[in-house]
Amino acid sequence: MDPMPRHNTAAAIGGVISKLPTVGTTIFTTTSALAQQHHAINLSQGFPDFDCPPRLIELVTTYMRQGFNQYAPMQGVAVLRERIAEKITFRYGVSINPDTEITVTAGATQGLFTAIATLVAAGDEVIIFEPAYDSYAPSVELFGGIVKNVELTAPDFAIDWHHVGELITEKTKLIIVNTPTNPTSRIWTAYDFQELIRLTHSTEIFILSDEVYEHIVYDGLEHLSVLSYDALRERSFVITSFGKLFHTTGWKIGYAIAPEGLTREFRKIHQFNVFSVNTPIQYALADFLKLKDEYLQLADFFQEKRDHLATALQQTRFRVLPCEGTYFLLAEYSKFSDLNEFDFSRRLIEKFGLATIPVSAFYKRAINQSLIRFCFAKKKDTLEEAVHRIEQINRYFG
Ligand code: PMP
Repeated sequence: MDPMPRHNTAAAIGGVISKLPTVGTTIFTTTSALAQQHHAINLSQGFPDFDCPPRLIELVTTYMRQGFNQYAPMQGVAVLRERIAEKITFRYGVSINPDTEITVTAGATQGLFTAIATLVAAGDEVIIFEPAYDSYAPSVELFGGIVKNVELTAPDFAIDWHHVGELITEKTKLIIVNTPTNPTSRIWTAYDFQELIRLTHSTEIFILSDEVYEHIVYDGLEHLSVLSYDALRERSFVITSFGKLFHTTGWKIGYAIAPEGLTREFRKIHQFNVFSVNTPIQYALADFLKLKDEYLQLADFFQEKRDHLATALQQTRFRVLPCEGTYFLLAEYSKFSDLNEFDFSRRLIEKFGLATIPVSAFYKRAINQSLIRFCFAKKKDTLEEAVHRIEQINRYFG
C-alpha cells in the first residue's frame, strides 16, 4: 500500500503542470476505502465515531432558525472571538486582543495553510519535525518553500536540538511545532521550548504552532503553549480547532492567533481564500464555550478510552508506546511480523478487519519502525470490538 502514489508531473491533463507532483491520494483515504471494503473496525482516521454534545446541535439549530444564515464578518463573529480570548486568558493567563489577534478559520487546516501562505516565499526554508501531520510539507512547497525535516524516531521521539541548530541557516523562515503531537502522542517539554527560544531569539524565524490537541493531555501532564512564552508569541501563529474540542471534525472551524501585524497579513489572504466561515455555528460555539467543563473534561474522557485500548494491547505481544496526549496510540509489532508497516497494516485490515495507520506514512523518507497508529476516539462498543480483533491477531501470530 503506497501512501503517496506518485503522479507524473509532465503528463499533466490539458497542459496543467502539477504544483504538487509527488502528492497523491492520502493514506487516510486509501485506508478508509479498504476498511470499508473489508467491513473493518476503523481505528485509522482521527475522528470520533460518536456524536457531539446535543446542546451544541440545539444551539446551531436555534441560530439557524433565528436567521443567522448570511456571511459572517471576514475575521469571524465578534462574540466568538471575545470568548476565544477569554478562554486563552483563563487557560494560559495571557491577554489576546480579539479584534486584532484572532481570526476564525475553516478548520485548523485552513489556518495552517493561510499562515504558511502569509510567511513562506520561494527559497525560504521551513523546519518540520517528522513524523508530521500531512498538510505541512505540501503547503510549504506550494509557495516555493524548502522543507528541512528533523526526523524523530521511536521510542521517545526526542528532539535533538543540536541537530536543529545545525539545520538553521539565513534562509530559515519558519519552524513548525505540533504539540501534543500527531501521530507520536508526545508533548513538548519546557526544555523543548527553552531550546526553541534559544535558537530563534535573535533571528527573524517565525513559529507556526499547531495546538489542535491542547486539551487532550493525560496523566496530569500539562500542555505548554507557544502563547505562554512572550519571546515566541511575538513571532508566532498558534492554530487550533473546534473539531477536536467538541467532537465536530465535520464542521471545520478553528482559529488562528497571531500578533496584530501578522494577523493583518494573514487576513489579506484569508479573505480571498474563504472570506469567512459558517455563521450559525460560530454563534453556537460562542455560547458553548461558556460551558468550560465541556472542554476541561476532555482529557479524562479520552484517558479512559486510551487506557482501555492500551491495557488490551499490553496483554498481547504488541509493545505500547507512551501516550501523553492526542487521541492516538502507537504500538510496535516486531514480535508478530517482519512485514513493513504498510504491508502489516494492510494485512490487519484484510485478514482481521482492523484498520490502523502505518506510522511511516508521516515521514517523507521510507522508514520502518514496525509501528502502527490506533485512533481511540471511538465508542466503547467500537473499542471492545477492536480489542476482540487484537486478541485474534495475538492468537494468530502466536
Ligand atoms: N493538525 C493536526 C495535528 C491534526 O491532527 C488535524 C486533524 N487530524 C488537523 C491539524 C486538522 O484540523 P481541522 O480538521 O480542524 O482542519
